[in-house]
Amino acid sequence: LVSREFKSTDTIIEVRGIPFGGKQIQIIAGPCSVETPEQMRSAAEAVKAAGCRLMRGGAFKPRTSPYTFQGVGDEGLDYFRTAADAVGLPIVTELMDVRKIDLFLEKGVDIIQIGTRNMQNFDLLKEVGRLDVPVILKRGLSATVKEWLMAAEYIAAHGNHKIIFAERGIRTFETSYRNVLDVTAIPVLKKETHLPVIVDPSHAGGKSWLVPALSKAAIAAGADGLLVESHPCPEEAWCDADQALSPQQLMTLMDDLHKVAAAI
Ligand code: PEP
Ligand code: MN
Repeated sequence: LVSREFKSTDTIIEVRGIPFGGKQIQIIAGPCSVETPEQMRSAAEAVKAAGCRLMRGGAFKPRTSPYTFQGVGDEGLDYFRTAADAVGLPIVTELMDVRKIDLFLEKGVDIIQIGTRNMQNFDLLKEVGRLDVPVILKRGLSATVKEWLMAAEYIAAHGNHKIIFAERGIRTFETSYRNVLDVTAIPVLKKETHLPVIVDPSHAGGKSWLVPALSKAAIAAGADGLLVESHPCPEEAWCDADQALSPQQLMTLMDDLHKVAAAI
């Protein structure tokens, strides 16, 4: 269902009137984690001011250590919804547990993110497949393109065809940055599937100074958009502080991306 053999033309997925997969590049920005109502309010204002059309933020965080901050939980969705509604941005947030699906539907989450660590959580994929909500499917830490396509197939096979792939860097022998952004996967995926492909430069590079270069490379390589981490005050972020862009850096990135998009 997700392959070009099934459908040869590009699929455009509309999220509250915002198209993914067409000529326009869509930039989703926002903090790694929802922290407080105030943090979400300033984050939303910065995302809006920079010209991004959707906002990200996790209320439930898949952390490597069980002893670190795990996300603010259910009430985080309220902080997020309120802040994003105030500036008119649709929200993207990660679902880790099928037991939270009703809550996500109740809060009107606009795009459900399936994180890297859950790319092959087949029961979660099947449940998300039964919903009528667009899904961002992140690439697994060491997933091949084939495995990633088959993970999307699980969602589509259960009825939900609104899937956006997100390349977020893969694990290799290289340790001097967080992950290796697999730029090659962008044209390969665009060839294999009719669905939109976006890139998360933040979890790929792991450092805010790497984000502009990776973002430009992704757009030049044909990505349909980006998922970027930004924070009103990066050094104070509760999670992934090193890779968050400040409001000013996000603004500059958006200007640069317009130039790249115009050039291709
Ligand atoms: C995230 O987007 O906050 C996240 C945890 O990303 P990933 O699943 O790609 O590690
Ligand atoms: Mn993060």
